[in-house]
Amino acid sequence: MIDINEKWPEILDFLKTEYEIQEVAFQTFILPLKVHSFDDKNITLVFTGGSGIGGLSYVNKRYYDFIVLAISIITGEEYNVNIYLPGNVEKFYANTENDSSENLADIELEQRIKDANLDKRFTFESFVVGNNAVAQATSLAVADSPGEAYNPLFIYGGVGLGKTHLMQSIGNFILNNNPTAKVLYTTTESFTNEVIDLLGRQKTNQDDIIEFRKKYRNVDVLLIDDIQFISKKDRTQEEIFNTINELLLKHKQIVFTSDRKPEEIEDIADRLTSRFQQGLTVDILNPDYETRMAILKKYANTKGVKVTDDMEDPENVKIIEALDYIATNFVSNVRELEGSLNNVIAFSKISNKPISKEFAIETLKVDNTDKKITCESIIDTVAEHFQISVADICSQKRSSEISFPRQICMYLCRIYTDEKLETIGNYLNKKNHATISYGYNEIKKAIETDASIKATIDVLKKKIDPN
Ligand code: ADP
Ligand code: MG
Repeated sequence: MIDINEKWPEILDFLKTEYEIQEVAFQTFILPLKVHSFDDKNITLVFTGGSGIGGLSYVNKRYYDFIVLAISIITGEEYNVNIYLPGNVEKFYANTENDSSENLADIELEQRIKDANLDKRFTFESFVVGNNAVAQATSLAVADSPGEAYNPLFIYGGVGLGKTHLMQSIGNFILNNNPTAKVLYTTTESFTNEVIDLLGRQKTNQDDIIEFRKKYRNVDVLLIDDIQFISKKDRTQEEIFNTINELLLKHKQIVFTSDRKPEEIEDIADRLTSRFQQGLTVDILNPDYETRMAILKKYANTKGVKVTDDMEDPENVKIIEALDYIATNFVSNVRELEGSLNNVIAFSKISNKPISKEFAIETLKVDNTDKKITCESIIDTVAEHFQISVADICSQKRSSEISFPRQICMYLCRIYTDEKLETIGNYLNKKNHATISYGYNEIKKAIETDASIKATIDVLKKKIDPN
């Protein structure tokens, strides 16, 4: 019988070099695997990592196949491999798994995910690492030791590159892993709206303010998405500053995302910029070709379209060619990449035609010409971007959080459509042509004088017209 204990260091070494596992991930997930027992058919491993059940489930999903393969290559034998938590080996062997209690735990976890404001689909498992190994490994390190590794973690990068996905993965990982951790995800817009709502009242109730502060300060992990929107909003900046100060003092984890580096967010207090820079700043890169293909393959599989690496199978090859076409032509962001494939899959189902490169070309061409830029589509995009409702944009509300996006709509409708000012006014609920013209000029001026507004408009332009 082979002594697995003796072989173990070699197996670990092989795993690390052969599968190019990043150092942080290796330390966190592979090194804590210890041999519990073995015979000539079975190997039982225990995961001794600090991240417990969450870490174990990640190991099982992400590394299990590699581990089995590495063992078989190093030992030359096939084994049945099981991995448990140290205290659970006997329990699992006795097969005392209790379905109802497991269900209860599941339901509880779902509720915690909801309370944290997270989407359970955004996980490290569903994130294709590709050329974003640094951002992914750093996020994993934070998820593994919240408050200890890097604090705050500041993730920045262009639109649709996976910032929100990674940030939410951290939250989901922690919730899965620690049954008592309190996690809260918020967008900067919704935080701002709460501040406005609190302070804009006729009579601000002190209890409400205390309640609001408690909500954000009594957490173990605070995730704040799209922090660039804090620019110019003084009261919100103050609230955020005090909130993160208190959390940092208590060694609670904070994660920010932004479409630009901390020092490039304009019109914010210096003390905030330095807080943002105090931990670690990582950027998310545009996925390279291989990463785009990997994302597409994974996405196809989740949509029920089976893609394998089998280049002997002609049907599979046709699908790969379609994916290659998409990966070559939709390069600027992942959202667009997935959206294109989604259209191809949906259209193939409706038309009952198999997916191929030609089919993809045809579908995506049809889709592109169909996608006319209209006042309505612009208003939708702007509303979504600022996370406010179309109704608010078209309302008479005059707070700057609403009127600024509204003026941006005026500006963008003018440059992207041939509509008359009156018509644009009608789309924005009867604003007259002078109002539209004024709004247009305000934004035009602002773009010339304010780099952060220019950056916002550039982002919106990309969203409106990706080509
Ligand atoms: P951002 O917040 O940077 O604008 P998102 O996180 O919302 O981007 O990502 C846009 C979409 O692309 C989401 O559906 C997300 O799941 C997906 N996505 C982005 N990057 C990846 C990746 N590396 N692997 C898998 N899906 C990804
Ligand atoms: Mg996002």
